[in-house]
Parts: sequence; C-alpha cells; structure tokens
Amino acid sequence: MRGVYRESGYQEVKGPQILDVSLWKKSGHWDNYKDNMFFTESEKREYALKPMNCPGHVQIYNAGLHSYRDLPIRYGEFGGCHRDEPSGALHGILRVRAFTQDDGHVFCTESQIESEVAAFHQQALKVYEDFGFKDIAIKIALRPEKRLGSDEVWDRAEAALRAALGACGVEWEELPDEGAFYGPKIEYHLRDAIGRAWQLGTMQVDFMMPERLGAEYVDEHSARRHPVMLHRAIVGSMERFIGILIEHHAGAMPLWLAPVQLVIMNITDAQAGYVREMTQALVNEGFRVESDLRNEKIGYKIREHSLQKVPYQLVAGGREMESGTLAVRTRSGEDLGSLSLTDLVARLRQELDNKS
Ligand SMILES: [Zn+2]
Repeated sequence: MRGVYRESGYQEVKGPQILDVSLWKKSGHWDNYKDNMFFTESEKREYALKPMNCPGHVQIYNAGLHSYRDLPIRYGEFGGCHRDEPSGALHGILRVRAFTQDDGHVFCTESQIESEVAAFHQQALKVYEDFGFKDIAIKIALRPEKRLGSDEVWDRAEAALRAALGACGVEWEELPDEGAFYGPKIEYHLRDAIGRAWQLGTMQVDFMMPERLGAEYVDEHSARRHPVMLHRAIVGSMERFIGILIEHHAGAMPLWLAPVQLVIMNITDAQAGYVREMTQALVNEGFRVESDLRNEKIGYKIREHSLQKVPYQLVAGGREMESGTLAVRTRSGEDLGSLSLTDLVARLRQELDNKS
C-alpha cells in the first residue's frame, strides 16, 4: 500500500494522534461524531484521540501557502485511529476500537475532481485484483439526514461522483441517506471466496471541511479560494482487511502475503548447522523464513507446518546437506525434488512477482 501511495503521487505523512478539541469543533466532528470519540485532558485543556485523519491533513496543508499550480496535492497516511464502538459491536480483528487506515486526502480544484476520482478508481481496482478479489460492486452513498452544508453543495458533490464513474464506464447502485456528514461517497463492496460481501474502499467529495478549517489556495486571478477535499481509502481498516484476507484465502495466503513463507526442517541433529546457514541465506534474500530444529519426527513437523499453511516446506537430510540443496514441498503436498538455493530463489521470486 506504501507502493500505491508512491505510484499515484501521494506524499506519505504522519499527523498527531491527539488534537485539541477546538479543532474537532471547527471540523464538525464534535457536533456530528462526538459519541464515537475518546477524550482526554492536560493542563485544563481538552483533547480528542483522532477518530479520522482528515483534520490533521488539513493542518499539514495549511502549513504553507498554495497556488492553483500546486494542485492537486495528495497526502497519504497509515493513520492510527480510535473510535469508541460499543463493546457488543466489537468482533475479533474485523471490528476494533483502534485501527490503521490507508487514508489519503487530495486537495484539488473543482475541475480536477473527475480525473482524480477516475485515477483513484483504476488504482483501487488494481489493488483488489492483486489481492485476489474479482467480484466488486460499486455504490454511491448519498446525503444523510444529519449533515453539513446546503443542498446546492450536495447537488454538486453528488453530480461530480456520478460524472467520474460515468467517465470510467462502470455501473453503480445509489444508496440514499448513507453518505458521510460532510459529503457523498463512492463505496467498493467486494465479494469473498464464499460469497460474503465486504465494504472496503471509499472515495468521498467534501466541499465543507476545507472551508471550516481555513484551507485555501491562490487562483489564477490572485483570489483566495477553498480547495475541494477528496477523502479516499482503498483497503480501509488494515486490521479488518487482514481478517477479510484470512477468510478469503481460508488461511492459505499466497506467497507474497504469507506471514511465514518458508520453513526449513532438519531430519537429525547432524543437519542443524546446515539448516541455520540456509535459513540465514534465505533471510538475506528477503524472505520470511523460520527454522524448525525440534527433535521430532519429520512427518510430524511437516504435518504441523501444513496445518499452519506455510507455503513452502524445506527439508534438509544428509543427502541435501552433502549436495548443498533442500528438498522442497508445497503446503498442498506437491514434491518439487531437491533444489539448489539459486534455483529455489528463482522460483520463489517469479511467484512473488506474479503475486500468484
Ligand atoms: Zn478523511
């Protein structure tokens, strides 16, 4: 996801975790989102833990004076957020009170909305495909009852999202009353391997927050104007996304996502030093490798790592040690024979490159 920021022209930033309550009053969160926020105080001033990253990004934007020529300006953060959810709503890593968003904000002019939304749309679809999701439904969530701003502003924001998706040639469904309090949004709903639907990414158009928090740029006639702010996330909560990936792949993560990619086992103590040496060599090649030197039967170790769904299991016996190879098997039990380190690394790299 860091690569996605880089490739699509985002600067990676980090906002403060705790911000003065006056900022949340100005942003509208105090009136519209207070029940979901955690508060604290210091030296008789009240602070809030951020439930969203947006006001922090406006503060970063406001640190300098911007010309229309600088726009669009894109900030991305792996932003730690806290939301006070009722304990009954919490559910493993799928719903938590502390989570990390791949959260980005684009500051742009009104005429740039369409191309920014279209570029985001293409990027999001590519990410979902890389993670193995093919069945994606697109929805536009329209103005909710509890909201900021006039109907005229909402009309423009909703029209901009429709125009951008229309230009991408995709079909969407509209959800009345489900937008955020500061703007309408596009939602990406993904279906996993067993047919459950999950809402992941969003792209929201916001004409309100830049004005409320005093964000400006100088236009081509030297007049001060407020930029439009686009709020976007592709995977949303990264914790929840990991939960969805585990469900989607039934724990058998593809090599590029597996937390442990390779495990190396010895048959007898005589190969312990060789296993350590091969483990370090593969770590140095950038792989996530563990060694299993326990004094257990090899069949027992293999069964255990197959249950853990480690993609590759590498065995070193006397013969392998002598020939400088490893006996390679996949977690599904396919026997690939004995491979040298060079051949093994070449095979793994190809699999990583294909994200297969
Ligand atoms: Zn935001």
